[in-house]
Amino acid sequence: QIDEAKAAASVDNLRSPICCILGHVDTGKTKLLDKIRQTNVQEGEAGGITQQIGATYFPMDAIRQKTAVVNKDGKMEYKVPGLLVIDTPGHESFTNLRSRGSSLCNIAILVVDIMHGLEPQTIESLNLLRDRKTPFIVALNKIDRLYDWKPIPNNGFQDSLAKQKKSVQNEFKDRLEKTTLAFQENGLNAALFYENKNMGKYVSFVPTSAHTGEGIPDMLKLLVTLTQQRMAEKLMYLSELECTVLEVKVIEGLGTTIDVILSNGVLREGDRIVMCGLNGPISTNIRALLTPQPLKELRIKSHYVHHKEVKAALGVKIAANDLEHAIAGSRLLVVGPDDNEEDLEMEVMSDLEQLFSKVSTSGTGVAVQASTLGSLEALLAFLKSSSIPVSTISIGPVYKRDVMRAGTMLEKHKEFAVMLCFDVKVDKEAQAYADEVGVKLFTAEIIYHLFDAFTAYKKEMTEKKKRESAANAVFPCILNPVAVFNKKDPIVVGVDVVEGSLRIGTPIAAVKKNPITGEMETISLGRVTSIELNHKAIPICKKGQPSVAVKIEGPNQPLYGRQLEEKDTLYSLISRVTIDTLKIHFREEVSKEDWQLIVNLKKVFNIA
Ligand code: GDP
Repeated sequence: QIDEAKAAASVDNLRSPICCILGHVDTGKTKLLDKIRQTNVQEGEAGGITQQIGATYFPMDAIRQKTAVVNKDGKMEYKVPGLLVIDTPGHESFTNLRSRGSSLCNIAILVVDIMHGLEPQTIESLNLLRDRKTPFIVALNKIDRLYDWKPIPNNGFQDSLAKQKKSVQNEFKDRLEKTTLAFQENGLNAALFYENKNMGKYVSFVPTSAHTGEGIPDMLKLLVTLTQQRMAEKLMYLSELECTVLEVKVIEGLGTTIDVILSNGVLREGDRIVMCGLNGPISTNIRALLTPQPLKELRIKSHYVHHKEVKAALGVKIAANDLEHAIAGSRLLVVGPDDNEEDLEMEVMSDLEQLFSKVSTSGTGVAVQASTLGSLEALLAFLKSSSIPVSTISIGPVYKRDVMRAGTMLEKHKEFAVMLCFDVKVDKEAQAYADEVGVKLFTAEIIYHLFDAFTAYKKEMTEKKKRESAANAVFPCILNPVAVFNKKDPIVVGVDVVEGSLRIGTPIAAVKKNPITGEMETISLGRVTSIELNHKAIPICKKGQPSVAVKIEGPNQPLYGRQLEEKDTLYSLISRVTIDTLKIHFREEVSKEDWQLIVNLKKVFNIA
């Protein structure tokens, strides 16, 4: 009898798995969610689908109804009490959120547009899911766009396909094959769900249409089957508290609130809670636990229903004091009677501290700002694999003070005076300030877009620097004049290049003893503006080439016959600055011989 009571209690205590939906933009994530939320009027209200905070709850009754068309033999088992689907589609960072080491998301739907196949964000999502070891299915959406598709609303896919023309079936087969291949190229084996014999080894493709509802029953059935198969039994029972902050929001009349997903355990009004904050741990008491008012109750003034107690899994808004600096993505812990609050504070802060430990210790690098702990972590991992150093990190919207911090790079490492902002808003004043001082802000909702933009920017900076420093890039040469064609303004001389190479733009000088002071003196002639070989202009003349006619222009030129004589050897005019410029920006273009020549010229010009 006691055993029976226990069993009954545990059935009651089963918790619902949490499902995330992700994929490339415009694949139909929002539409799919809308479609599964829709209640079927003819079949009566699909019982109890509830809109929660940041999530929608589908009780098993609703799922049973929605999957009836593909469960005609009644063999499908419904063991979990329902499914909690996180509402913000495409929010990669949620997949990356963790609560107590396990992923917040128990199962995921990766949506792919069957007409487009794999897209960049699909691959990013794939990698996230793989890293987190999250089980997932792939919805091949928009099948109604196959040419000549005849829809049968809300039908099972296999039946719908069987009723299509041969040409439609062939196009489907063709696209399926292409996508399968593309997944394979990304290291993932996948198979059409009803041909998949091993769900542990192969990911299932389930063709869907968010417009006609076809395939959605299959998708739901597959989700339930896969969770029941893959989720560890213990995960399905209410146990230790697992709770994650999704968003921090200011609500009129409530102040700053946090939207949380309670993935396991129970929360009660008045509970003492602890979470990670930007300025240190936050400990406070739950003032109110709120979920949205059901649609039909819209006449009621308050937007929210208050709860004394809520049980996993669900999305709920928490009102409490001191939430202003709460961090999205943080774990939320409840201080139990045997807990030491300080220990819990240390525990929640460790997630952020672990990220801070990834910041470059030299203090040189880009600034990184993201919406949540999870997205920040994903972005840092990405930057690390791309060898981009990071100097500071932060979470939440970008304000002027963040730009000021990034601006400290302007002086020494301009290429790092950059902020990579992932999925965050940039305050107007912050943007204006960034434009003013020259801090570059990159914002994107896709990590690899940030990376691409930054890489392109860095390349452009290098090129620009090279261009800017070109005037200071003086390649060494020694010239023997053989004729003077024009004595001044401009000087035109015939020369042999006896060492190094002479280029357009090279500054030229002679070094002579001053007849009055007796000291060695550098006489600057100006810069080379043209080099002609047999009356043909050339950009460069190397040692050993025939004599060339060189035009040299510049202010206050010396005069041949006065300060200069034809026999005076001419040199490229080098200095400490020109040597450093070559070292920094043109190292690859300077030969060993050139470096040796520079050493010799240093003596000529008396450079230390
Ligand atoms: P999300 O960016 O992934 O959330 O994509 P949306 O749900 O906003 O859909 C993007 C566009 O694709 C919208 O114009 C939808 O109407 C359209 N769309 C979504 N699903 C389907 C589908 O199954 N069939 C067709 N024909 N269009 C779809």
